[in-house]
Amino acid sequence: MNNVKHEGVLVYIEQRESEIQNVSLELLGKGRELADKLNVKLSAAIIGSDIKNVEILNHYGADNVIVVEDKKFEYYITKTYAKALTSIINTENPEIVLIGATSIGRDIAPRVSARIKTGLTADCTSLDIDEEDNNLLMTRPAFGGNIMATITCSEHRPQMATVRPGVMKKFVKDENRESVIKYHSVDINENDMDVEVLEVVKEEDKKISIEDAKILVSGGRGVGNKENLSVLSELADLLKAEVSGSRAVIDEGLLEKDRQVGQTGKTVRPDVYFACGISGAIQHIAGMEDSDFIIAINKNKEAAIFDVADLGIVCDLNKVIPCLIEEIKSH
Ligand code: FAD
Repeated sequence: MNNVKHEGVLVYIEQRESEIQNVSLELLGKGRELADKLNVKLSAAIIGSDIKNVEILNHYGADNVIVVEDKKFEYYITKTYAKALTSIINTENPEIVLIGATSIGRDIAPRVSARIKTGLTADCTSLDIDEEDNNLLMTRPAFGGNIMATITCSEHRPQMATVRPGVMKKFVKDENRESVIKYHSVDINENDMDVEVLEVVKEEDKKISIEDAKILVSGGRGVGNKENLSVLSELADLLKAEVSGSRAVIDEGLLEKDRQVGQTGKTVRPDVYFACGISGAIQHIAGMEDSDFIIAINKNKEAAIFDVADLGIVCDLNKVIPCLIEEIKSH
């Protein structure tokens, strides 16, 4: 380790088309907690072009915001963004760097960690400070999700982690928090611009990601087939909800992989989670137990899902869901 003093927590703020991603606000919530435990400052670093409303990052817990803004950062390009983030880290010398485990985060984090010669713990689901030596405790599923491993980085600084979207709680927004914004410049030359974005093709499907949905109607093996799943989709449409599922349903090809809830899928925290025909295996519960209100429909009254449900309906889902749909339509 070099002799530079590393201090503070830094969160990389991911923006897409200038829109700050939820995972970054969640990381500010966790970053605030870690910074308070260490009695250090929390910084938010954002890179882009035409970035607006960065003071919101102070409202969500950051003490200061570092902005790298240039037309050259209009699109995410691995090399330019990795260079900019490396430059910020080398200037600020934080002791902890947190990045969302999104497709962008998973791309940039290892490149930055290699450039600054430190380790990286990917895909964490929990972070804490070791009270004995103030090291960061980074916990993530290992061996295919069969165990949870806690990893520390005692030698190198900063300690770097990517964190799964949906697992950390946002800081309660406070608009009275002072805005401290500083601009950081990075020299991007021709060698860095070896990728040219010709066109951005957006997914036609306007589905909201299941991590951002307020209501989720989730189906398990008990749903049985595509026809029954379309009844779940009808309920979801009426409730302005999204459809998700257990791994059993994804493995059967009834839903896309990005709709899977659980340890090897996504962690969700909606206001309401309908678990329809889902038994409640530990790997599924790990991804949804923090939902505000859980409604379980299962014909087996012994199903483990009822242990985490706020409301349990012991019945055939093919009877309950059409009744619910009728009831909603009649109002
Ligand atoms: P089942 O366990 O088969 O349950 C179906 C339920 O439907 C039963 O309780 C049954 O009573 C009920 N039912 C049947 N018919 C009806 C009906 N007509 N009306 C009402 N109820 C009905 N699973 C995940 O979900 N997400 C993960 O990320 C995940 N990761 C995993 C990682 C590892 C390493 C391993 C080993 C497993 C993982 N699993 C995951 C799989 C998990 O262990 C379970 O096998 C899976 O969650 C079961 O899905 P299910 O509840 O839909 O199906």
